[in-house]
Amino acid sequence: ILYNKKPCYDIVFSADFQRLIHELKGLEIESRRVCVVTDSHVASLYGDQIMDLLEGECKEKALFSFPAGEENKTLSTVKDIYTFLIEKKFDRKDLLLALGGGVVGDITGFVAATYLRGIDFVQIPTTLLAQADSSIGGKTGVDFDGYKNMVGAFYMPKLVYMNVSVLKTLDGRQFYSGFAEIMKHGLIKDGIFYEWLLENMYEICDRNVDIMQEMVERSCKIKKLVVEKDPTEKGERALLNFGHTIGHAIEKSKNFTLTHGECVALGAVAAAFISWKHSWLSMEEYYEIRDMFVPFNLPISIEDIDPQEILKLTKSDKKMENGSIKFILLKKVGKAVIDRNVSDEDILNALSEIHYVE
Ligand code: NAD
Ligand code: ZN
Repeated sequence: ILYNKKPCYDIVFSADFQRLIHELKGLEIESRRVCVVTDSHVASLYGDQIMDLLEGECKEKALFSFPAGEENKTLSTVKDIYTFLIEKKFDRKDLLLALGGGVVGDITGFVAATYLRGIDFVQIPTTLLAQADSSIGGKTGVDFDGYKNMVGAFYMPKLVYMNVSVLKTLDGRQFYSGFAEIMKHGLIKDGIFYEWLLENMYEICDRNVDIMQEMVERSCKIKKLVVEKDPTEKGERALLNFGHTIGHAIEKSKNFTLTHGECVALGAVAAAFISWKHSWLSMEEYYEIRDMFVPFNLPISIEDIDPQEILKLTKSDKKMENGSIKFILLKKVGKAVIDRNVSDEDILNALSEIHYVE
């Protein structure tokens, strides 16, 4: 268990759901209604198991499931959940459990932040991205009018319970997509963790449970450290955007047909390339970083991009401040910095590095 001093909640790492009820008893569920919020895929895989565990342990239990997919991370789903909670007479003392990936976590957190001006919620993340990244840090919200995460709130869960065994049912693309954020955590903050990932890459690909647990735990520790220093994103937290500046631009230009992690991998390769060109990384370090994405089926080059369009999208991203891009580069492996001196030419060179032309 990691105990947070500032945003005060426990993070439990486990290979099953055995301890979940014990942990929830710490939140006095016997006197509270509990609503599990989940999506259609996760409901069919783990919904019954969680509902069975809750049997007889809380005042009342309910399950709300919405169709899986980012396209449902909307205010309309939020409204459906409010209606359901009102029907079930949920009051401010009751509790929500977010059982699912980042979409479920973001929506449930937002509902928890706003329903009756705030009720408690617990994160039970079930994707690698959600376990290693999105369930930590208190960002909640939904997409609006085609804009990602346009409406939201910073709101902390009361507990995060990670069962790494559920990662075994994730499809390969989803699993590897989450890995890109884990690599990012090593690269920006912890060179020793990066080396560990390099040494264990085949066990990770095999989804060895012990290795996954250690990986998720170490990844969360890094994210937690960064967000605790800067809970509302005024400074240090920007380092988490490593790989995301160009990554988001590619994500948009490809109309979200690539996964977020695939775009982060491409963005990370581009940012590592610029770090090499700034003489911070050696050529060997750059190539090692780039090639590490390959066993995880993450792309290191991409066909059919328009570099000028991506440059434009990069500059219109929210990381722009006073006309200069806040670019995150690597001073060395394990140490990222904010750099405002990345030129258009640097970006175009990095894009030609990742642009695959036959
Ligand atoms: P997701 O929640 O859509 O899950 C991906 C798919 O996997 C879904 O179809 C889901 O039903 C399925 N799934 C979930 N768990 C499973 C399991 N154990 N076995 C089999 N299938 C399972 O996507 P995601 O990648 O987890 O999250 C992406 C979302 O997270 C985006 O909306 C993004 O904006 C958000 N995000 C939030 C933060 C944050 O700080 N709050 C950070 C990064 C990303
Ligand atoms: Zn990300």
